[in-house]
Amino acid sequence: MNVPVPTEAQLDPIRRLPKVHLHDHLDGGLRPATIVELGKQQGVDLPTEDPTELKEWFHRGANRGSLPLYLEGFAVTCGVMQTEESLARVARERVEDLAADGVVYGEVRFAPILHLDQGLNLEQVVSSVLEGTKEGCAKTGCDVRIIICGMRHMDPSANLEMAELAVDFRDRGVVGFDLAGDESGHPPKRHIEAFHYLQRENFNITIHAGEAFGLASIWQAIQFCGAHRIGHATRLVEDLEDEEAGRRSAGTLANYIDDHRICLEMCLSSNLHTGAISRLEDHPFPDYLRRGFRVCLNTDNYLMSATTLTYEWWLAQELFGLSIHDLEKLAHNAAKGAFCHHAERIELLEKKLCPAFEAARATV
Ligand SMILES: [Zn+2]
Repeated sequence: MNVPVPTEAQLDPIRRLPKVHLHDHLDGGLRPATIVELGKQQGVDLPTEDPTELKEWFHRGANRGSLPLYLEGFAVTCGVMQTEESLARVARERVEDLAADGVVYGEVRFAPILHLDQGLNLEQVVSSVLEGTKEGCAKTGCDVRIIICGMRHMDPSANLEMAELAVDFRDRGVVGFDLAGDESGHPPKRHIEAFHYLQRENFNITIHAGEAFGLASIWQAIQFCGAHRIGHATRLVEDLEDEEAGRRSAGTLANYIDDHRICLEMCLSSNLHTGAISRLEDHPFPDYLRRGFRVCLNTDNYLMSATTLTYEWWLAQELFGLSIHDLEKLAHNAAKGAFCHHAERIELLEKKLCPAFEAARATV
C-alpha cells in the first residue's frame, strides 16, 4: 500500500500547531529503543534487538489489512509493561512524545488487565501509569489524562471490574472508559452491565465501533451502552448512502450522531492498516467533516501504524485539501469532545487553541 511521504519542511508547520489527541493507545506507542531496553532488563524475548528493525517489524505486522492481525504486536509491547517502573516509564515517554508532536491536550488509553502477568494488582498498574503521566506532564506542560479500556473478548464480569476501576480513579487523572479489542463477533452490549454501572456513576464512555463491524456496532455502542464518543466510526458511512434513491442522505443513526454532537475519533492510517478501508482516498472522513459531524483525527497507535498526529493532519491536508480553517475545526472538535470538565475544555479552547490558530491564519 503506497502512502504519501512528506518532507520535514511540510510537517514542521503542522507540528507547531496546537493539537488535541483523543484516541491514542499507550501500548501501541512505545519507543522501539525503550522496548529493547525493557526487554533486556526483564528477560523478554523480542523478534530483534535492533530498534530500527523492531520498528519495522511492528509496522509490517500491523499493516496486513486485518484487525486481529493488527492486534498481534500488542502481546510484545504488553510483555515489557509488567512492572511499576516500566509502566511509569512508558507513560512518561508517551507524554513526552505527544508534547513533541505538538499535542497540548491528550487522552491516552490502556487496558490494565493486560499488565498483571508478573504479579502487579490493578491498582498498582493504574497508579504507575498515572505517576508516569504526571511526570511527563510536569516536564512538558502537555495535559494528558487516562482512559481505562475493557476488552471485548473478555468476560463481562472482568469488564465490570475495569469500569469500577476507572471510576475509582476518576479524581486521580482517569477521565473515561473504552471498550477495545477485536470488534467482529464481540458486540458491545454483551458488556451492558459495565456500561450501566458507568452511566449510573455519571462517567464518560467511548467505544471502538464501526471499524471492523458495521452500523449495528455503532448503534449498540450509543443506544445500549451510552457512548459519548465513538472510536473510528468508519462504517457510519453506510448510513449516509442511499444508492437506490441515487442520492446521499443521512439515516436516523447518522442524524442522531450529528444532532447530539457525538465526537467521532477517526484514524486514517490505522484504518488502512487494519483493512477498515482499502484506499486512503476512499476514507469517509472528508465527507463527515464537510457534513459538519464532530470529527477529529487521531493516530490510534504511533508505533504499530508508524505515524504521528502531525502526519495524520498532513495526510488529511494532502489527500483531502484541508485548509487551516479545517485544521482548526479538527482541534476545536477534539477539544469539545474531550472528557475533561467543561470549564477545562473552554480554557483549552480560549487559551491554547484560539490564539495559536489566529496567529497561524495570519501567516497563511
Ligand atoms: Zn483504537
